[in-house]
Amino acid sequence: MKEKLFIVVPCYNEEEVLPETTRRLKEKILSLKGQGKIGEGSRIVLVDDGSKDKTWAMIRELHEKDPLFSGVKLSRNRGHQNALLAGLMTVKGEADVTISMDADLQDDIDAVDEMLDKYHEGCEIVYGVRSARKTDTFFKKSTAQGFYKIMSRLGVDVVYNHADYRLMSRRALEELEGFREVNLFLRGIVPLIGFQTGVVTYERHERFAGESKYPLKKMLAFATEGITSMSIRPIRLIFSVGCLLFFLSLIALLVFGIRCICGYPDGLLTIAASLWTFGSLQLIAIGVVGEYVGKNYMETKARPKFIVETYLHAEEDND
Ligand code: UDP
Ligand code: MG
Repeated sequence: MKEKLFIVVPCYNEEEVLPETTRRLKEKILSLKGQGKIGEGSRIVLVDDGSKDKTWAMIRELHEKDPLFSGVKLSRNRGHQNALLAGLMTVKGEADVTISMDADLQDDIDAVDEMLDKYHEGCEIVYGVRSARKTDTFFKKSTAQGFYKIMSRLGVDVVYNHADYRLMSRRALEELEGFREVNLFLRGIVPLIGFQTGVVTYERHERFAGESKYPLKKMLAFATEGITSMSIRPIRLIFSVGCLLFFLSLIALLVFGIRCICGYPDGLLTIAASLWTFGSLQLIAIGVVGEYVGKNYMETKARPKFIVETYLHAEEDND
């Protein structure tokens, strides 16, 4: 028996792209079935992340017309990472293999073939990696590069230029469930699962229609989330910087003291400057520590990451 592939697509206000995305996805699934690469019962799972437009109505209609489409409706908007996890966890028991991708057709659907080939060669996880960032602005390109650099400096194992376009086997997905954190950063968590992995490169396209749901503010929040949920090195860094500054201030004290004794007292400016320096450093330190304290607080509460309101799914294959 061939494996059941479930393609999981989180959607937030995507009414403009959904018709085209679902048309292309269906085409892809049918062609893969035709080639015997996937089995009967494969599905396209559209997760509605509390959209305010017609997204859910469209998903429901698609499901009613065609059992190939399943729909998961979340009780409210919880963000891309949670919506994706909701989709993956909902299909966990049924799918032999899952592929997650965005709804806006930026991820090249044709890369699915290669991902499946790698899976058949024995990979449990296959990462889709953007070969070029031609369609991104200079700003997005450089901030993204900076982000990956910081992550690798912090010792976090992230796959360079990989977003959330990835294949996961049933086994890998089951292991993913064991990562219980509330602050989700899948790109950092999935590599921790291990097993044999593969990479497929593809060219990232422009968004087919509609607007990005990740404006600068959200992007920065996501990057901070990624760093602080994967590493505690910033805290250690503060400690080291603190030690260094303490050492320097001891030297400064000594020098100023000697100058005073020798009759060259330094002006008020020296005092003001040192106050500013240490004041701001303390603020930065408190901010970073606060970030982790806040995280701890959220993790302790362990609120559910998502609540599925409706799951539309055809058990039997009618085709
Ligand atoms: N998305 C979501 N919930 C949100 C925001 C985004 O499910 O709160 C989905 C969105 O529909 C898309 C994917 O996450 O399928 C990636 O979002 P987008 O393309 O806007 O991000 P970008 O590619 O601009 O970073
Ligand atoms: Mg996008």
